[in-house]
Amino acid sequence: EYQFKRKPEWLKTKLTVNKNYREIKKMMRGKTLHTVCEEAKCPNIHECWAVHRTATFMILGDICTRACRFCAVKTGLPTELDWQEPERVAEAVEQMGLKHTVITSVARDDLQDGGAAIFAATIQAVRKRNPLTSVEVLIPDFKGNWEALKTVMDARPDVLNHNVETVRRRTKKVRSKATYDRSLELLRKAKEFQPDIPTKSSLMIGVGEEWDEILETMDDLREVDCNIMTIGQYLQPTKKHLNLVKYYTPQEFAQLKEEGMRRGFDHVESGPLVRSSYHAREQVEAAQGR
Ligand code: SF4
Ligand code: SF4
Repeated sequence: EYQFKRKPEWLKTKLTVNKNYREIKKMMRGKTLHTVCEEAKCPNIHECWAVHRTATFMILGDICTRACRFCAVKTGLPTELDWQEPERVAEAVEQMGLKHTVITSVARDDLQDGGAAIFAATIQAVRKRNPLTSVEVLIPDFKGNWEALKTVMDARPDVLNHNVETVRRRTKKVRSKATYDRSLELLRKAKEFQPDIPTKSSLMIGVGEEWDEILETMDDLREVDCNIMTIGQYLQPTKKHLNLVKYYTPQEFAQLKEEGMRRGFDHVESGPLVRSSYHAREQVEAAQGR
């Protein structure tokens, strides 16, 4: 089915590679760090790294204990738990001259705290070396371990990001071992622990949801006082991954942004190529200017 759907014009991007980008890339190789930008072959990589000075680091290895059907990350039993990693991320942030950084990880269901302590250590290490860089964490659900969540919140990231990924009805099909309600609860708890830290969540659309269900998800997120929302087009990584059901038009994305802003989000980033960490610094500024 997927093969019949040709990629619309608005999703075709040209990659312009400049010197800046190449230097950053070389530096990354020397550090044994993973970035989502590279691993997900993100179409925004040049703009983010060289122009906006944003990058998304993936800590705690590149093997995930879960297997969400939309995701290209390898599934298996992770082995990495490297206490030097926070310092290496902090150094990379410094060398890349980042203004904003997103720290994320695979789901480490094999660890008691899901990796929360390493998240906290990374926030602290990045801050120490880069006091002017804003730090956003995009965390897994820690299997509902709210003590682990508190460890992360106590390290005071600039933004706490946790993705619902899809609407309630599609969650079981799309995500692995995660539930819609647990994700909402996580966002609610984050606010309870640190009321002044903005929270954020992302939705990828085109996986079989209805328009009204997208609006319901917005309402659910506002209900737990989520401040920032991003909405992007799902792109099927390979034929084995979850089927792509629909391409939304740029006009529909613009309409969704309006719907979100009307519901009281501080910032809604909505567009075909929008990823959770796209224009992330601008999103934080909008939320902090509340
Ligand atoms: Fe990296 Fe996110 Fe930018 Fe993509 S949108 S290049 S993942 S920071
Ligand atoms: Fe991918 Fe995250 Fe799902 Fe793991 S938990 S498979 S990294 S989306």
